[in-house]
Amino acid sequence: MPQPQAFGSCNLEACLPPIKGFLETSFIDWPGKLCAILFVGGCNFRCPFCHNHPLVLAPEGMETIPFEEIMDRLAARKNWLAGVCISGGEPTLSPGLPKMITRLKAEGWAIKLDTNGTRPEVLAQLLGDNLLDMVAMDVKAPLVRDKYERCAGGPVNLEAIQESIDLLSRSGIPHEFRMTIAPGLHTEEDIVAWIKQFDRARSRLSLQNFNPKTTLDILYEKEQGFSQEIFSRFAAMVA
Ligand code: SF4
Repeated sequence: MPQPQAFGSCNLEACLPPIKGFLETSFIDWPGKLCAILFVGGCNFRCPFCHNHPLVLAPEGMETIPFEEIMDRLAARKNWLAGVCISGGEPTLSPGLPKMITRLKAEGWAIKLDTNGTRPEVLAQLLGDNLLDMVAMDVKAPLVRDKYERCAGGPVNLEAIQESIDLLSRSGIPHEFRMTIAPGLHTEEDIVAWIKQFDRARSRLSLQNFNPKTTLDILYEKEQGFSQEIFSRFAAMVA
């Protein structure tokens, strides 16, 4: 049986982010790249429209996939995968994230991080250590407290969100700010205000339409996304 690998001052398996899911191939999560996705358990938001709520609400009830098993499965796909996306949940909550990415980088993997931007200090460390090749940050609403907290399902440190936006905007690495929009949470004015928060010459923007399938707040399963016509008009505003 392979022994957990010591890494720096911590045993790698012992301090790793809890990997609760592994998707071997995705064509859509990293624009232009075929990637695998690791899903890390735990999140500090409770977005009512979240589709990954088992990862958010009860990650301890899900099996943790050993990191060495992940490395073996990635190695077997090295010839056709272009990178690894680390998603969640919220990966930056895990103290072992930099070490895990360092290990993946040592094997030659390009790394995309999905984050909600609440831990700018972690993002700064990862960017400073050149550990990231692409970042997608969910910016859930214009940075107005009541709007943002409705979308995130609880208290939000807006200064931290702004700091993460600024870090990524200045980073020089490919990045995307994205927002899931839902009738009842977002108006056209919100989308206009959201777009104005970014430097579009530096940052890619994208919108996702709310999908009422297995939502964290079950009341949202009775809601609908925007009609295709309205969503297409909103999407054209950020294109
Ligand atoms: S959608 Fe919200 S609650 Fe779900 S993983 Fe992302 S930040 Fe966490």
